[in-house]
Amino acid sequence: MATISLALTDEQRALEKGVTEICKRYPGEYWRDLDARREYPEKFVDELTQAGYLAALIPQEYGGAGLPIRDAALILETIHANGGSASACHAQMYIMGTVLRHGSEAQKRKYLPKIATGELRLQAFGVTEPDAGSDTTQLKTTALRKGDRYVVNGRKMFISRAMQSDLMLLLARTTPAEQVRRRTEGLSVFLIDIRGIKGLEIRPLRMMMNHSTNALFFDDMEIPADSLVGEEGKGFSYILSGMNAERILVASESIGDGRWFTEKAVAYSGGRVIFGRPIGANQGVQFPIAKAHMSVEAAALMRDKAAALFDTGEPCGAEANMAKFLAAEAAWEAGNACIDCHGGYGYAEEYDVERKFREARLYKTAPVNQNLVMAYVGEHVLGMPRSY
Ligand SMILES: Cc1cc2nc3c(=O)[nH]c(=O)nc-3n(C[C@H](O)[C@H](O)[C@H](O)COP(=O)(O)OP(=O)(O)OC[C@H]3O[C@@H](n4cnc5c(N)ncnc54)[C@H](O)[C@@H]3O)c2cc1C
Repeated sequence: MATISLALTDEQRALEKGVTEICKRYPGEYWRDLDARREYPEKFVDELTQAGYLAALIPQEYGGAGLPIRDAALILETIHANGGSASACHAQMYIMGTVLRHGSEAQKRKYLPKIATGELRLQAFGVTEPDAGSDTTQLKTTALRKGDRYVVNGRKMFISRAMQSDLMLLLARTTPAEQVRRRTEGLSVFLIDIRGIKGLEIRPLRMMMNHSTNALFFDDMEIPADSLVGEEGKGFSYILSGMNAERILVASESIGDGRWFTEKAVAYSGGRVIFGRPIGANQGVQFPIAKAHMSVEAAALMRDKAAALFDTGEPCGAEANMAKFLAAEAAWEAGNACIDCHGGYGYAEEYDVERKFREARLYKTAPVNQNLVMAYVGEHVLGMPRSY
């Protein structure tokens, strides 16, 4: 049975220390500069990969560390708590799970060891489409079998890191929607080597934050038939099976953000003297920070519960979704308290608060928006009528 450990083990403390040491070499100036130029944190991602942290969840037999998700969560949380952003590389941790659970032994042997060493990057996850959005089953991109190949046509939207990744996990329709019993059927997952592939156009999108995201256009893009992961037509369930890991890991980034905001807010409001005393002595300044701290701690407990269930293989859909929701809200609350107490300086780039504020906001919308999490809890946890 799953149990939640309230303190980090010695090994986890060492893990946290190792990640923190790397993060110290990438201070605010590093992230600020990349943010201004909207460039990918190559050096940071390379160092993290070389140290083995991005292979945390890859089993040892495939060259990874084979750690539990609680440890992977700690890695991402620590990066965010130190002012960095793991969004540039977090997908590798959870996309890999789809290949691990549903891929063939040949696919696992071919790709996982190279992903573990960093020889190959699996950072792109192609699901969202311009006309389907949150309603994944309505996606229009098709992959039609033609001899020993599939031919892909369609469009994807907001596909992050496609320019920086060697491989992409793609969800596409292999059987037309009209020919399947349920709309979740007829979708398939492919693991594609996108380096120099013909028929794929990648158009970068300038977003609110530095996120290396793109619009993708597939025009008769041919891929080998053995790119298919698992069975044809079962892709939707394969993607769903990776959602809990994704929710837990993204929640951890928000918890790290929340901790960073709170620490910054406490330090600044303790040192800033206005009307003859530190602004932090005013309840109007202190209470929102204290309240945000409580929200972050509560979200962390839910994340720990979700991770403990995940690591013992028990159902954790409710907890993983609630952790993602609570953590994104807590980070946002802490971000607002932090920007408020900084006054005008909260908007000045050199304080990093405005950058983190923009980055933290994303997790209320992606990878799943807060409304859909509430719909999940309403329907699947509380047994209320389906709302969509
Ligand atoms: C920076 C960034 C990076 C991303 N990276 C990736 C990526 O790498 N791969 C990928 O596949 N996708 C990616 N996404 C896409 C992201 O997952 C989607 O934006 C998200 O799932 C929502 O889809 P949408 O934007 O089409 O919004 P829509 O589905 O159009 O929804 C818009 C809003 O309507 C509301 N809404 C919709 N349906 C309901 C409902 N039934 N009930 C209540 N409210 C509802 C929600 O509040 C939602 O925010 C990224 C997005 C961003 C912004």
